[in-house]
Amino acid sequence: MTTTTSNTVKPARKTKSLDVPEGAVHTLDDDLGFIALVDRMQEDAALKVVNAARISYEKQKDGFDESDSKLAKFLWLHGHTSPYRHSFFTFHWKAPLFVFRQAFKYQVGSTWREYEANGESISLEVFDVLFDSDKGCSWNEISGRYVKWTPEFYVPKQIRSNPPHGNKQASVTLPEDFDHEGERQRMIAECEEAFRLYRERLDRGVAKEIARLMLPQNIYTQAYWTVSLQGVIHFLAQRLKPDAQFEIRRYAEGIFQQLESELARLGITRDLIEAK
Ligand SMILES: Cc1cc2nc3c(=O)[nH]c(=O)nc-3n(C[C@H](O)[C@H](O)[C@H](O)COP(=O)(O)OP(=O)(O)OC[C@H]3O[C@@H](n4cnc5c(N)ncnc54)[C@H](O)[C@@H]3O)c2cc1C
Repeated sequence: MTTTTSNTVKPARKTKSLDVPEGAVHTLDDDLGFIALVDRMQEDAALKVVNAARISYEKQKDGFDESDSKLAKFLWLHGHTSPYRHSFFTFHWKAPLFVFRQAFKYQVGSTWREYEANGESISLEVFDVLFDSDKGCSWNEISGRYVKWTPEFYVPKQIRSNPPHGNKQASVTLPEDFDHEGERQRMIAECEEAFRLYRERLDRGVAKEIARLMLPQNIYTQAYWTVSLQGVIHFLAQRLKPDAQFEIRRYAEGIFQQLESELARLGITRDLIEAK
């Protein structure tokens, strides 16, 4: 019997529509949105952190133990972040446009390229940051210029309001006597109407890149995000917190869930991340 690994070259096949990746975590309460860790560097990310630090002393270890966890946590707490920039992860997102608008802000540490030096392949993020103007290349999303949108919209079941104390970053669920379902149905009807008009425009020969302009920002799309371990912790530090919008928080929760055991080995708990 042959076993297949991620490095096995598979015979070329026809392209097909995007599947929900194995292990995807559902994010929003509609069974549409998800976040999935779809690729990562092969080397143990935790071991790489401490070995990257130990290279200063011309030392390395083959396994990761309790003392490594303490070292990794020390590095993080004292801002020695460069050892956290040698491992990269790729996440597949399916999210509404307005969530991507917030997520696409995370650009630094969101790229990994291979370079050649003395015939050896190296992938130092610092090269990207210092010498590369195209830092945001690692976000790739479905193009509404080439692909017809699918009528999938995120409409929350629980409608929220801004709280009376005026904190613009907070929102609270409206009380039970608010007509949540009525509001939701009105929103769904607006989405359906916008999509009907979109289809009509396409039928009249209008280009996809123009017809899409009137679609609402709760429409779902998909993207790949490749990000360093440091970059992903930075994202979690900002987007797990209650001042982040509920919907992007759900994606941060999903990412945290998929990296939790990895982060625990590094001594990085959720409390530590949120305290930053
Ligand atoms: C609650 C909340 C509310 C927000 N509200 C708004 C808003 O109203 N409007 C808006 O436009 N955005 C808003 N943002 C987005 C915010 O301004 C950031 O763009 C976003 O959080 C990404 O963080 P970042 O800039 O640290 O990420 P990245 O750009 O990925 O940077 C990561 C880190 O790299 C370092 N870095 C980046 N660039 C440089 C540089 N040039 N020199 C030195 N170091 C650098 C910094 O340490 C930075 O934290 C909000 C974010 C949050 C969490």
